[in-house]
Amino acid sequence: MNPTPTLYIVVPCYNEEEVLPETARRLSALMDSLISFGEISPESRVLFVDDGSGDATWDIIESFTDPRFEGAKLAHNAGHQNALWAGMTLACGQCDAVISIDADLQDDPEAIHGFLDAYREGCDVVYGVRKSRETDTAFKRLTAEGFYKLMRLFGAEIVDNHADYRLLSRRALEALLRFGEVNLFLRGMVPLLGFPSKKVYYNRAERFAGESKYPLRKMLGFAMEGITSFSVKPIRLITLLGVLFALLGVVFGIYALISLCTGHAVAGWTSLIMSIWLIGGVNLIALGLIGEYIGKIYMETKRRPRYILESYIKLGGEEEDGAEE
Ligand code: UDP
Ligand code: MG
Repeated sequence: MNPTPTLYIVVPCYNEEEVLPETARRLSALMDSLISFGEISPESRVLFVDDGSGDATWDIIESFTDPRFEGAKLAHNAGHQNALWAGMTLACGQCDAVISIDADLQDDPEAIHGFLDAYREGCDVVYGVRKSRETDTAFKRLTAEGFYKLMRLFGAEIVDNHADYRLLSRRALEALLRFGEVNLFLRGMVPLLGFPSKKVYYNRAERFAGESKYPLRKMLGFAMEGITSFSVKPIRLITLLGVLFALLGVVFGIYALISLCTGHAVAGWTSLIMSIWLIGGVNLIALGLIGEYIGKIYMETKRRPRYILESYIKLGGEEEDGAEE
């Protein structure tokens, strides 16, 4: 680990004209203090990624005078996750570490000092975690908690109360960028890297200005993305349901046969009820089985790296860090 790393701070911005001048002021001051205390190298940069905004966001970025600021403009609104990916791709190769932070100043930029301390202690991944959700509405808190539970139930490892405010070391970034999937759910992907990591807690503020770019519709879509990108368990549920129906079919079959034998059944009912349940169950099992293969194809198409190397020691005693395949 470089004790004074070259840091890139990636800031995705979508229609953020109201908040951007203040964000720039705060980040500029932060860069001053980080550089003067020798926490980061003077080559460090802040990269604003304009995610196809329709307002004056890009004009504001172009008008910045701080020589440590950079701007990238996406031709079309690609979404928060893709804007982050774009920024990180541009930063990779030019930095020792990258930090992603929202443009709206909800994530306290001062936590970056803590991020860098953790980085110097040898962490490759530092998660910014909110101490409390007091500034969120009760509804947002409840849905978020439900979402974390559901994600874990479906087998994805995610960090509670962590959004996309995090530090990645260069090797963690390089490893992440090898993931081949197009549908991004970064907060599920980063824990898959498995490098040494740490959580740094901070207070989440209200949005400084402007409105949330994540209305309920987008939030639900994002949650769905998280679940379907990380798990084929919903497909397995179909198979399970099929087995359950088939078993119920057997129980109903026995019941129908008993009814037939004791003379309580109308003619034709026994065979009908047995076929409905059995065929229903077999149908679902077959669907689940097909789904299982589709799930495999789905996971294959992501072209995720098969493993991520943390270190490689040669017998001569040299140690090399790396994330090569
Ligand atoms: N954002 C983006 N593209 C989008 C939507 C949002 O780059 O399509 C950015 C936005 O400018 C902000 C960050 O993603 O910097 C998080 O969005 P927001 O603060 O609106 O989400 P919330 O905090 O309400 O969940
Ligand atoms: Mg926000």
